Amino acid sequence: LLAVKEPIPYSGNPLDRMSGRRTDAAWLSERLGDPSSRFLPLWRMQVLVKQGHEPDLAWARRGVCECMTPDPGPVLLGEREGVTHFAVDLSTLSDPLDALGLGGEARFAEPHAVVAGLPLGSAGIVAQARGLLTWHARHRFCGTCGEPTRSADAGHVRRCPSCSAEHFPRTDPVVIMLPVRGDQCLLGRQPAFPKGMWSALAGFLEPGETIEEAVRREVAEESGVRVGAVRYRASQPWPFPASLMIGCLADAESEAIEVARDELEDARWFGRDELARALAGKHPEMFVPPPMAIAHHLIRSWLSDA
Ligand SMILES: [Zn+2]
Repeated sequence: LLAVKEPIPYSGNPLDRMSGRRTDAAWLSERLGDPSSRFLPLWRMQVLVKQGHEPDLAWARRGVCECMTPDPGPVLLGEREGVTHFAVDLSTLSDPLDALGLGGEARFAEPHAVVAGLPLGSAGIVAQARGLLTWHARHRFCGTCGEPTRSADAGHVRRCPSCSAEHFPRTDPVVIMLPVRGDQCLLGRQPAFPKGMWSALAGFLEPGETIEEAVRREVAEESGVRVGAVRYRASQPWPFPASLMIGCLADAESEAIEVARDELEDARWFGRDELARALAGKHPEMFVPPPMAIAHHLIRSWLSDA
């Protein structure tokens, strides 16, 4: 079923998440004090990367905890080959590179600017770390009673001391889909897209909605096209800040397009040959998103079905 052949960026996190150890205070304290443990610094949701020819994440040693934001403190990411990995938030520092003594060796970068060059697993760790730290930054107060909450269980829960509510990290599901009809598939253009770029339609799932229902609703709302069967293809963590892209192909049951101008600038059907050229970068007028985006893999997957 999974006809997506290439690994999708932000997937493939190599860490064992060690979820059974998150409540083990003695283990955590021992791992936090171990000189081999590694800490991924994030600053205002930018990630620390090495300068140089082979870009990768830059990990700090335990000393970095002296300048981290105390809430949430070190957030457990997981283990690999006996080495424990944490994420720390340095957002309250005005000059984090100076505080780390790292000027010249590393820099903070937006994930989008560097992910294409990172090893696959490293991008997966960025998705995990960014999702968790953003969640902490945005959930300082209890959604039930409004009092301040505290990070617990190695950064995987926030507890409210006032009403005892527990709050867990969020992932926001988004459906992204390629409606197909015979040898054609439907793509759209958002007004913010670079000139010439077309991509798959997408939208957030709403409460009380299945994936299939969300696909049908979004396609109908944005393009006026009616969709029947929906086939799941692949998913992608999307750390902006913490979405999960659920990639589907959808059988279109109508052809006429009525574009919702508040969401899309345009939508139209594309043939296989046209999209094969666009994917190869050889179409004179249009292009599709790069391999960083799951839309690229959905298009490639549909083309390989023929
Ligand atoms: Zn509360």
